[in-house]
Amino acid sequence: MKVNTHYGELKDSYLFSTIAHKVSAYSAAHPDKSIIRLGIGDVTLPLCPAVVEAMQAAVAEMGKKETFRGYGPEQGYDFLADAITAYYQERGITIGRSEVFVSDGAKSDLGNILDLFDRDNTVLVPDPVYPVYVDTNVMAGRPIRYMDANAENGFLPLPDETVKADILYLCSPNNPTGAVYSREQLKTWVEYALENDAVILFDAAYEAFVRDPALPRSIFEIEGAKRCAIEFCSFSKTAGFTGTRCGYTIVPQELKRDGMSLNAMWLRRQTTKFNGVPYIVQRGAAAVFTPEGQRQVRENIDYYRENARIIASALRERGAWFTGGENSPYIWLKCPEGTGSWAYFDRLLEEAGVVGTPGEGFGKNGEGYFRLTAFGDRANTEEAVRRIAHL
Ligand code: PLP
Repeated sequence: MKVNTHYGELKDSYLFSTIAHKVSAYSAAHPDKSIIRLGIGDVTLPLCPAVVEAMQAAVAEMGKKETFRGYGPEQGYDFLADAITAYYQERGITIGRSEVFVSDGAKSDLGNILDLFDRDNTVLVPDPVYPVYVDTNVMAGRPIRYMDANAENGFLPLPDETVKADILYLCSPNNPTGAVYSREQLKTWVEYALENDAVILFDAAYEAFVRDPALPRSIFEIEGAKRCAIEFCSFSKTAGFTGTRCGYTIVPQELKRDGMSLNAMWLRRQTTKFNGVPYIVQRGAAAVFTPEGQRQVRENIDYYRENARIIASALRERGAWFTGGENSPYIWLKCPEGTGSWAYFDRLLEEAGVVGTPGEGFGKNGEGYFRLTAFGDRANTEEAVRRIAHL
């Protein structure tokens, strides 16, 4: 018996445990001081009424013999998949029913999609990055190349033609940097992928935060993307489903490699290893796309967007360098006067009682940067901004 020794190659993630440890030590030493958390990327607003009502109605259905449901289609019920295709169609993107796969969230799909790819592919990952892309490939023992995201390229790296990658990850709006690719920039990536026979794994978990119509919310807005990209979406940040769990992935029928359809492979993978998302949750997710649901989730997103604007304008007033804060719930700021990420973390905690996330936790290019999130409540965000400004 041999275990997968690649697990031994994973770097321990001390980021959030170190933060928790430092925060509790500070609280113990200063029980009278209030702490404001702008660190972890979880939502704070509850599910909207349209979602709650739809889930309550679905619970009642499950309690009656005539309307009870057992196993559902692994790739999601038609009522939700149809609502998702209509959501794309509103933006002029035609997605077929068979191209939609409903899941329990983007994180699972981003990890599981790797079942479709041979171990010998080279993976290209931006640095800094959402850590799941790196760790899932390390587990598979796949070689990883990094592309530098930095202040020079606005944390939006573009293809380096000297690098031949097979699988590449793009996340826009980005976690942790809040940076958003333009259509022109995504077009460059699609052209690169088509030329190199590569597949783009496009993480659109934060697409609902994009309000500027000049910016793309889907890779499929780009001509040719259906021949080279898979898109991952989530209800987590769009509709507060971080604890409810639902997402969807679009695998185009046109996407073929080695004479095989990636859509057919993903369908086979999901029907073999996954038994679908609960009916009750899918009813709640479908309610997000009703006119009432859209109005309500938009109100919640606007609330977070206003928090982001408050943080961003305070930083701008003080001449701080940052990305994000617009069309994104994240603000990625340069630590002042060359301070390191952790030194800045300690200073903010000790002198302002504000908790953020040190950039180096997301990759080497994150050193000297710091992530603040807009998912807190308004009063706390305003107070945090006052305290930071005072510093
Ligand atoms: N992708 C990105 C970039 C994220 O930041 C997150 C969550 O923080 C996810 C995916 C995970 O989403 P889900 O809750 O749908 O698994």
